[in-house]
Amino acid sequence: MNAEIIAIGSELLLGQISNTNAQFLSKQLANIGVNVYHHSVVGDNRARLIEIITQAQKRSNLIVVTGGLGPTKDDLTKETIAECVGRSLITDKEALINIEEYFKRRNRVMSENNRKQALVISGCTILPNDHGMAPGMALKENGVSYVLLPGPPKEMEPMFINYGLSFLVSQLEKTTKISSRVLNFFDIGESQLETELLDLIDNQTNPTIAPLAKDGEVTIRLTVKYENEKEGAALLDEIEGKILARVGEFFYGYDDTSLLKEVIKQLKDEGITIASAESLTGGLFSSEITKVSGASTIFKGGIVCYSNDSKQSILKVPDEIINEFGAVSSECAKALADNVKDLTGATIGISFTGVAGPNKLENKEVGTVYIGISVIGKKTIVYPLKLAGSREQIQSRSVKYGLYSLMK
Ligand code: ATP
Ligand code: MG
Repeated sequence: MNAEIIAIGSELLLGQISNTNAQFLSKQLANIGVNVYHHSVVGDNRARLIEIITQAQKRSNLIVVTGGLGPTKDDLTKETIAECVGRSLITDKEALINIEEYFKRRNRVMSENNRKQALVISGCTILPNDHGMAPGMALKENGVSYVLLPGPPKEMEPMFINYGLSFLVSQLEKTTKISSRVLNFFDIGESQLETELLDLIDNQTNPTIAPLAKDGEVTIRLTVKYENEKEGAALLDEIEGKILARVGEFFYGYDDTSLLKEVIKQLKDEGITIASAESLTGGLFSSEITKVSGASTIFKGGIVCYSNDSKQSILKVPDEIINEFGAVSSECAKALADNVKDLTGATIGISFTGVAGPNKLENKEVGTVYIGISVIGKKTIVYPLKLAGSREQIQSRSVKYGLYSLMK
C-alpha cells in the first residue's frame, strides 16, 4: 500500500503551527507496514485542494487527510473530497446526536453551522470523535482508500488509533511489518559516522540505515521489513553488529534513551554518588541531572562557582592556580573536581570551567573547556575540549560531554 498524507490548513503554510499530524501518522503507518511516499500541505483553498487530491489519486492508494473538518467557512475538506470521489454529503444521525449532546453537556447553544459537522460523505465508514464534534471518515473509491481526520491532534490521534487503524488493517493485503531500532552515539560527528559506514549505507536495502544529527549527538535509525518477528530481529542484530564493530566506542544506548538516563542508570547500579562544581555551565549540569526523578540517590549537590572569588573561598582553589594558570585551566578544573568531591563526600566530583563566549577570557578562545572528573582512589582526569557554537550551545554541549565522561 502506497500512502500519502495531506495536511490541510493555511496556518501550516504560514508557519504558525508545525505539521505534527503528518509526523504522527507517518509513524503509525510505518508500524503497520504501510509505505508513506509523500507528505503534502495545502491551504484552505478548494481549487488547490482538488489539484492535490487529483495528483494523489494517481500515485497513492491510501490518502490520509487531516484538518478542515470543522464548522467554519474555511473548513472544506469533506465537500471537496466528496466532489473528487463523485459522492454526495449526507447527514449522519448519530453524529448529529453526538453534536447536540456535546452542546447540552456544555450548556451552550448550538449554532446552525454546527449541523454541518454531522454531514458525512455518503457510504463512508464513520470514525467517531471522542474528543470533539467533527466525525472522521474512511472510504474506498476506485481502488483508493481515503481517511479523513480532524486537525486538532487531541481529536485526531485517538480517532486514528481507536478507529482509523482498524479500517486500514482491514484494507491491507500483506502481512509485512516494519520495525525500527535506534542506536545513539556521542562524540562523533554525523559526517565522520557516515564516512565510517559509507559502504553499509550505500548498500542498504533491508534494513535501511538512516543517520540523523541532533543536539551534538548522532543517531542511526535501522528500519527493517519482515514477515515474522524472529526474522526481523535477526536482520537488525546483524546490521547492528556490523555498525558497532566500526563505531561501537561512540555508542551509548538504544532507542529513546539519552546520555542523562544512561548515566543515572549506570551510577545507580554501581552505587556511586556525584557532586558538581560549575563555573562555565552556571548550574546547568545540576539542573539537567535533577530532571530525572530519583536523582537524589546519586546526586549529592552542586556548587555554582562562577566568580574566581567563589572558586577560591568556597572550593579552596589555591591562589597560585588562579594566578599562574587562570580559572580556565586544566589545573583549576582538577582542583574544583577534587575539592567538591571532598567537600560533599561524593564518590565522584565533576567540574566545568571554560569560555562560553561571546568574548575571550584570560586570553583563551571561546569554546575552550575543561571538564574535571575526580574519583575517590583514582587519579583525577581532566578532559580539554574545543567546542563550537553559541554561548548556549557551548554550555549545553559541555554538560553532555560531562555526562559522557561520567560513563567512561
Ligand atoms: P476545528 O473543528 O478545530 O476547526 P478542523 O478539523 O477544521 O478542526 P483545522 O481547522 O484545519 O481542523 O485545524 C484546527 C487546529 O488543529 C489548528 O489550529 C491546529 O492547532 C491543529 N492542526 C491542524 N492541522 C494540524 C497539523 N497538520 N499538525 C498539527 N496540528 C494541526
Ligand atoms: Mg477548522
